[in-house]
Amino acid sequence: QATPSHPEPISLPPNTSSAKFHEFLRRASAIVGDENVVVVAGDDQLQQQDYMDRSKVHDMFHILEKEVFLHLCTVAPKDNIMRLANEMEIPVWLFSMGRNLGYRGAAPRVPGSIGLDMGKNMNKVLKVGADSAYALVEPGVSFFDLHQYLVDHDLRDKVWADCPNLGGGSVIGNTMERGIGYTPYGDHWIMHCGLEVVLPDGLLVRTGIGALPNPKADKNARPHEQEPNECWQLFNYGFGPYHDGIFSQSNMGIVIKMGVWLMPNPGGSQTYIITFPRDNDLNRIVEIMRPLRVSMILQNVPKLDNLLVSAAMEGTRSSYINSKELMTDADLDAIAEKLGIGRWNFYGCIYGPPEVREVLWKVIKGAFNQIPGSKFYFPEDRPHDKALQTRKNTFVGIPSITELDWVSWLPNGGHLFFAPIAKLTGDDAEAQYELTRRRSEEFGFDFLGAFLVGVREIHHIVCILFDREDPEMRTRAHDLIKLLIHEAADRGWGEYRANLALMDQVAGTYNFNDSAHMRLSEKIKDALDPKGILSPGKNGVWPTTYKQYNKQI
Ligand code: FAD
Repeated sequence: QATPSHPEPISLPPNTSSAKFHEFLRRASAIVGDENVVVVAGDDQLQQQDYMDRSKVHDMFHILEKEVFLHLCTVAPKDNIMRLANEMEIPVWLFSMGRNLGYRGAAPRVPGSIGLDMGKNMNKVLKVGADSAYALVEPGVSFFDLHQYLVDHDLRDKVWADCPNLGGGSVIGNTMERGIGYTPYGDHWIMHCGLEVVLPDGLLVRTGIGALPNPKADKNARPHEQEPNECWQLFNYGFGPYHDGIFSQSNMGIVIKMGVWLMPNPGGSQTYIITFPRDNDLNRIVEIMRPLRVSMILQNVPKLDNLLVSAAMEGTRSSYINSKELMTDADLDAIAEKLGIGRWNFYGCIYGPPEVREVLWKVIKGAFNQIPGSKFYFPEDRPHDKALQTRKNTFVGIPSITELDWVSWLPNGGHLFFAPIAKLTGDDAEAQYELTRRRSEEFGFDFLGAFLVGVREIHHIVCILFDREDPEMRTRAHDLIKLLIHEAADRGWGEYRANLALMDQVAGTYNFNDSAHMRLSEKIKDALDPKGILSPGKNGVWPTTYKQYNKQI
């Protein structure tokens, strides 16, 4: 029976009658308030396509029809909702901000799950310890918010917060996905310290040294309100097993507080770009990068873009070429010449006071100068270079959304990330480039790819750009990525993150010793969540109760 506050949804969650669903809505409203329960009642709620005004119910860059992975309703908790979901056995799928574009947005793997919109009401920067350089945040704190907090409290001269390319994501959401930013603090998972987690059965846990109570805390307060241990954001491990890892890229719990290390203001920085003229310079560039990065002379997460990633920031495909045919190497060389950049463009940053920067720059420049034709610029040399000017900010933790521009390479731009890990060697980078470019072009796609250097490995980010309004092109993109996952695994390359439609396939490639890793994950999942209601199928981990949904798409 529909009520005025809860219209009839366009369909129902799995194994749930209309009466049961409305009972859930009624009880959820009583816990979180009517305004925090939003039912998807019609197609008009599936039209949002804008990054800043995002959809919380479907993937705005969907490769299958958007109805395939869809929430029927979102609930924005202020308080623990897991006990109700458990009691009523209705699957929920959590997100903090829902801007996980290129991987799935907010959409759930099991259609009809309830979207847990963790960010809407839990959105505070709870604490910044500027002297020890950390923050404690809730799920709804975006990179924009954390940066703004530091600005508003005059703290930027002391600490910076790392950010990924787009600032609208959640600090917690991105970290839980093991996302990447570009300062020396760019590996977000490494830089987290201390989690407060609600388990699927509703139990609240603090990890690491947070498990030891603060003697000054009010023991009568509810657990999540109790003042935490003063070392919680300073020391990751506590005593005994270290559980944090099982909550990342997983469906084992909901993080409602997280500590994040901030970067002490280094006393100055210098962004630079080095351009390399030839496509076949890649091997040497990477060979030069390795010793510099492993020894931390390259201090931050550097980014090596192929020409089209940089070019797509400056204009759409049709602004460069009239034809719909694939671009030839001659076309690419012409674009490089027009923009005054290289076939490969290396963006980096040096940190520290002028004397430190001077020495480091001398070493870096001397190393890359060995590649004939390489050119070196600072942002002030290229004031109209949008990619470089954006990097200059990202490298010092100032977030933006300018990088969205490359998504508009094609009309109605959507994209899919293929993100395999590679050894940081010239041969491996070249082999991944050869495979991914060749296959992309065979399927009719321009190749856009970036190598982000962790410390000893490369996150190779291949951007498969498609027209969202063209179903045939979406299918081709899907077929391409499925083939790439398969061929990459055959060469020992695993993805570090995957789109919703591909999680089962990618998880299936991590199958050493009769899929022992997955069997361990499933054991933990079934033990923590016997009814299997929290994000079933996330990263290919299916609880026993939802096994029938485990099929590659
Ligand atoms: P959410 O959608 O809120 O969460 C993502 C997932 O994390 C959820 O599905 C859930 O599984 C898990 N999660 C979220 N909240 C919690 C929680 N409270 N507890 C437990 N698990 C949780 N990504 C990068 O990392 N680096 C980049 O440089 C980057 N550049 C991009 C550039 C472009 C042009 C685009 C379109 C995307 C880019 N992305 C990048 C991908 C994406 O935008 C970001 O990773 C983004 O931060 C993820 O979305 P979100 O923060 O809104 O996460």
